[in-house]
Amino acid sequence: MRKMRRKGLASMAVQTVASTSNPTVDLGPAAALSCRECGHQVPLGPVFACEECFGPLEIAYDFSAYDTEELRKRIEAGPANIWRYAPLLPVPADVADKPNINPGWTKLVKADNLARELGVTGGLYVKDDSGNPTHSFKDRVVAQALEAARAFGFTTLSCSSTGNLAGAVGAAAARAGFRSCVFIPHDLEQGKVVMAAVYGGELVGIQGNYDDVNRFCSELIGDPAGEGWGFVNVNLRPYYAEGSKTLAYEICEQLGWRLPDQIVVPIASGSQLTKIDKGLQELIKLGLVEDKPYKIFGAQAEGCSPVSTAFKAGHDVVRPQKPNTIAKSLAIGNPADGPYVLDIARRTGGAVEDVTDEQVVDAIKLLARTEGIFAETAGGVTVGVTKKLIESGVLDPSLTTVVLNTGDGLKTLDAVAGTGLTATIRPTLDSFREAGLA
Ligand SMILES: *Cc1c(COP(=O)(O)O)cnc(C)c1O
Ligand SMILES: [Zn+2]
Repeated sequence: MRKMRRKGLASMAVQTVASTSNPTVDLGPAAALSCRECGHQVPLGPVFACEECFGPLEIAYDFSAYDTEELRKRIEAGPANIWRYAPLLPVPADVADKPNINPGWTKLVKADNLARELGVTGGLYVKDDSGNPTHSFKDRVVAQALEAARAFGFTTLSCSSTGNLAGAVGAAAARAGFRSCVFIPHDLEQGKVVMAAVYGGELVGIQGNYDDVNRFCSELIGDPAGEGWGFVNVNLRPYYAEGSKTLAYEICEQLGWRLPDQIVVPIASGSQLTKIDKGLQELIKLGLVEDKPYKIFGAQAEGCSPVSTAFKAGHDVVRPQKPNTIAKSLAIGNPADGPYVLDIARRTGGAVEDVTDEQVVDAIKLLARTEGIFAETAGGVTVGVTKKLIESGVLDPSLTTVVLNTGDGLKTLDAVAGTGLTATIRPTLDSFREAGLA
């Protein structure tokens, strides 16, 4: 396992202009790939690890030509999906005209009922990403990876997945006319298998767990059998990851080009949380929002809480765990971006917390009952952690707070399987009265 340690803020520079470029690849403002650990730069390509130190590569941009007010106007005049932010993403300028699933611009719901229940007075919002084409936040990252796959001439889209990603890849490939071949553990829930298979791509069950699936995919990339294949979360990972920045952009624009004070984000690999921070930093540097402090809070389920365990222990390395939780979309026991999440939570004055499966279910019901939003288990994790952090005084209820719901409750019906009929009656008014419901 490679060990990733922080090297301070210098390694987080996001506007580095590349010394090297690949003239055949047009990915808009993306200038190069830059190592997050040592800063080594390489031309844009389907690579994800630094050849010098094995650190993760991320996109370095050239935003130097942008005028703040012109950029703001261009974004506001853009389409009601993530491509309104094309000037800030590794995609060609005409991306909106290409066949893609066009996710994003999901609702930012002012959750006044939930705020009352939790005692939040500073404004509480739910960013509801269940509204994406395949009903999870994964459409944002897959849409980016698809554009990178197109730019690099790949014809097959692939991934290792525990469910949400498989569906997003299947749908994006179908729309764009790519072949898709997706790998999942063979014993996934039937609902997730159907959700991934319905788009007509190939779906392969691997006899093993998610880690085995991942290892298999890494081998396939190095083999002639995987030639021409873009694995969205492996060899296209630097591009894929940038999709999460759009959550930060949307939240700020929907708040009237304002930073939230506090934001609660679920953690699986930790990629989403780190890129939300990257997105907020970019908006500040570009002058699109006022430069003021914000706090990022990470949320995990107790049954898979390697990052919150490290946070609470004051460690800056993350010890892998064997997942055992109903929040399966977050069940990554060895999160690649874990150390960066710890850095961000500490740097911004946030925290990482976890909740039990029982608290996850209670939180799903709380959100549904107060706001009419049916979240998947990952949303139960963020709402549950928000409640816990308010009760422990870590989250300040007098500040503007945004909680992410990253998926649709219809995908994880089992979590609330005990919910059902209030009563069964005969079709008569007497029977209705007898049931005590009049
Ligand atoms: C994948 C996923 C996340 C976040 O994953 P990261 O690996 O941390 O980026 C959050 N919620 C849902 C529902 C997901 O499927
Ligand atoms: Zn490096």
